[in-house]
Amino acid sequence: MFGSGRDGKDPVTCIACGTRTVREDAREYDKHGDRWDRVDKEFEYLCKACHRELCHQPRDKLEGLLGEVDAGENDDDTFLEWYCGLVEERYGRVED
Ligand SMILES: [Zn+2]
Repeated sequence: MFGSGRDGKDPVTCIACGTRTVREDAREYDKHGDRWDRVDKEFEYLCKACHRELCHQPRDKLEGLLGEVDAGENDDDTFLEWYCGLVEERYGRVED
């Protein structure tokens, strides 16, 4: 039986846009950049859309950015506002 509740169907919330999705459809995100150390840690999640968007930014720099604001501590609007502002400030307008 797979009744543990750990089968990927748990609802998770995207830290960037607040979308609720099931865990198996989300992307695990560890703001500390060390996703192998799972002890006493709560992972955060990004929906697919946000994950794709965030990955347009240099990965190592993004880890630093998210570490600065302690993503997840703020409500979604605050986080998004902060994130977009900071990215724009540091990297210029984000446009395709
Ligand atoms: Zn999202």
